[in-house]
Amino acid sequence: MATVNEAQVLDALRKVADPDRGSDIVTLGMISGLVVKGGNVGFSIEVDPKRGPALEPLRQAAERAVDALPGVTSVTAVLTAHRPAPTLGGAKAPGGGHDHAGHGHSHGSPAARPAAAAGPTKINVPGVGAIIAVASGKGGVGKSTTAVNLALALAANGQRVGLLDADIYGPSLPRMMGISGKPESPDGKMLTPMQNYGVKVMSMGFLVAEDTPMIWRGPMVMGAIQQMLRDVDWGQLDVLVVDMPPGTGDAQLTMAQNVPLAGAVIVSTPQDIALLDARKGLNMFRRVDVPVLGIVENMSYFCCPNCGHRSHIFSHGGARDEAEKLGVDFLGEMPLDIVIRETSDNGTPIVHAKPDSDHARLYRAMALRVWEKIKAGNRRTGPKIVID
Ligand code: ADP
Repeated sequence: MATVNEAQVLDALRKVADPDRGSDIVTLGMISGLVVKGGNVGFSIEVDPKRGPALEPLRQAAERAVDALPGVTSVTAVLTAHRPAPTLGGAKAPGGGHDHAGHGHSHGSPAARPAAAAGPTKINVPGVGAIIAVASGKGGVGKSTTAVNLALALAANGQRVGLLDADIYGPSLPRMMGISGKPESPDGKMLTPMQNYGVKVMSMGFLVAEDTPMIWRGPMVMGAIQQMLRDVDWGQLDVLVVDMPPGTGDAQLTMAQNVPLAGAVIVSTPQDIALLDARKGLNMFRRVDVPVLGIVENMSYFCCPNCGHRSHIFSHGGARDEAEKLGVDFLGEMPLDIVIRETSDNGTPIVHAKPDSDHARLYRAMALRVWEKIKAGNRRTGPKIVID
């Protein structure tokens, strides 16, 4: 089978000219973050923020040029905008001096304005009341499972809910939400989100095959997220739940800075608390002034499927104590239970599949707490969360 390398990709991109600058996009130094992994190719095209919205055809032309190469199975190009690094409470600017905030193509919105002197420009998401992040200090702690069940529980409580899979290193929401296929774009500009169980869902997983390895650099993560926020017709939502990429690196920090988050829910396991990973997540949001709505302890204890006995395999109560120490709300503890795994992995999350179970009840109670905090935050901070 034909393979493709970076040199071939760059050669193909040399045939794509910037319409306004009289040369090709490689010679002009506009390509960055080129990643070739098997047949999957990703790169960013760096553009002047003012030109961002007009350059969607250029982005598409670049994708087509690479797609035509033998051995290429997927191509993802994102537009990113250079702008001065924001100074934010001493936080290091992601990307070493440049904030590749990824001004992707935005259709007529004033998205590509320069960063305000006071801090990074937040992305506009009209019609969405509050965006909340579900985050974790590391992978595999049940962050996606919690995001999905929390979203379904918010919907069950009567809110209009969207779910955005920002964990684009390993998007699992399509599978967990039992959705396959691709979102459509009736007007050729905005994508209509997919939907199941009354929740609108968008994920990179709909746009690339599940087994596609996705090695994204920080700026590309942000570009993709921006496109999923701006170019998806979310309609009117009370809450958009964002399943964050795990960890607390530059990509996560950039997201926390650029997405107008009303708050964050931190998911952790008892071991994770012991290892202080959860605290890192908490500090990250505090650094960028995003309120932490609370901590969920997942896989908190083992619930025997035969006799219902609870075994505290790992040290118990850590998250509750830690939350108290850190002055953060403790939202609840979810047991390690095979039913949670089975339902979440086969696309029928427990809040939907077993609404009368204790677990579903717990998720709904968590959702209520979170919703009340969002409403309280809205009242307190007012325009901070209102998206213009
Ligand atoms: P993350 O998003 O943190 O990487 P996932 O939500 O994908 O984690 O969960 C990792 C695995 O653990 C999945 O197979 C999921 O079904 C399972 N899982 C998550 N929470 C629980 C739980 N409370 N009990 C049993 N299995 C769980």
